[in-house]
Amino acid sequence: MLKQSLLYLSQSPTAKRMVTGTPVSRQMAQRFVAGDTLEEAVAAARVLNGAGLSVSLDYLGESVESREEGEAATDMVIRILETVKREGLDANISVKPTQFGLDIDPEFCRRNIEMVLQRARELGDGAGEIFVRLDMESSEYTERTVALVEALWAEGFHNTGTVLQSYLRRTPDDLERMIALRARVRLVKGAYKEPDTVAFPDKADTDRMFVEEMERLLDAGNYPAIATHDEAIIDAARRYVWEKGISKDSFEFQMLYGVRRDLQARLREEGYNVRVYVPFGESWYPYLMRRLAERPANMLFMAGSIAKESGVSGLARPLAIGGGILAGALAALAWRRRH
Ligand SMILES: Cc1cc2nc3c(=O)[nH]c(=O)nc-3n(C[C@H](O)[C@H](O)[C@H](O)COP(=O)(O)OP(=O)(O)OC[C@H]3O[C@@H](n4cnc5c(N)ncnc54)[C@H](O)[C@@H]3O)c2cc1C
Repeated sequence: MLKQSLLYLSQSPTAKRMVTGTPVSRQMAQRFVAGDTLEEAVAAARVLNGAGLSVSLDYLGESVESREEGEAATDMVIRILETVKREGLDANISVKPTQFGLDIDPEFCRRNIEMVLQRARELGDGAGEIFVRLDMESSEYTERTVALVEALWAEGFHNTGTVLQSYLRRTPDDLERMIALRARVRLVKGAYKEPDTVAFPDKADTDRMFVEEMERLLDAGNYPAIATHDEAIIDAARRYVWEKGISKDSFEFQMLYGVRRDLQARLREEGYNVRVYVPFGESWYPYLMRRLAERPANMLFMAGSIAKESGVSGLARPLAIGGGILAGALAALAWRRRH
């Protein structure tokens, strides 16, 4: 219930104004976001690269409403690609189709992505093209994103792939489409609010499907990314590749910036390829809300800090503010049900 409410609030402009207005939310965002600027993201990438971890840079932004915003995002992503090349970073890029205007005009979006892929190709030279992954957003966009990857591959852009979410009932079919194409897949559990008709309501089903789909990708996929912090699943992956004699170089683990740094380092020490997803930029609100929804303990921490700033004392602090946030979330849910 709390998770669903937070995911609902991640799309609410009113909640956005309230949350981004408090200094503590910005502080909380700093745990998951490398900074507002490209320079800060490059600094974070350098530290990670220094520890043997690869990076995927993500310029935060989604659901743009004007062509100007879509064009600005395209220019920025091209700037990121040029910076990756110039700075010699071990980094690729993740982008969201709605950041390039998918909601405004699919053709406009596709042209913007083509420009990005073209530049990523040119910058690669002999060292190989820079890879640009299309992140997966809510199920409203799944078919369009998978079809977009197919169309881009048909045009000869093989430096792109996407993300599939094990909570979606349709994913086994999408997985076969991507395997047939040889496009790279990042497998995740899924971070959006979805109806039971399209996504499994029980986490146990999502986890079970993740393992099945992971094994399929390890057997037949093209350099799959196993993107999770779930230790049981990571252990299952390690066991599977060991039993099947699958090379550690034929796949990678991926994790989010600021989440389970211990596990990232441990896997790297064991000789696995590990890539950290590094988001940056000023549009961090929906990203932060999805990270809070994944782990309620994150929200309690934030609630406690808000209480501290607002002067509530003692044990009453987290209880008062946590209750306030929870009440707000439930009110939002109730409002949504009525409308
Ligand atoms: C590299 C990467 C890219 C992603 N890209 C996408 C995408 O394109 N589309 C999409 O829908 N989703 C994406 N996700 C998010 C994903 O769908 C999950 O929501 C997220 O990874 C949490 O699920 P989990 O697999 O870690 O398992 P869970 O079962 O949710 O968590 C397992 C454990 O991991 C830790 N953990 C998980 N999340 C957090 C957190 N936020 N804060 C602190 N600890 C945490 C906790 O210890 C938890 O017990 C991405 C995730 C990663 C790692």
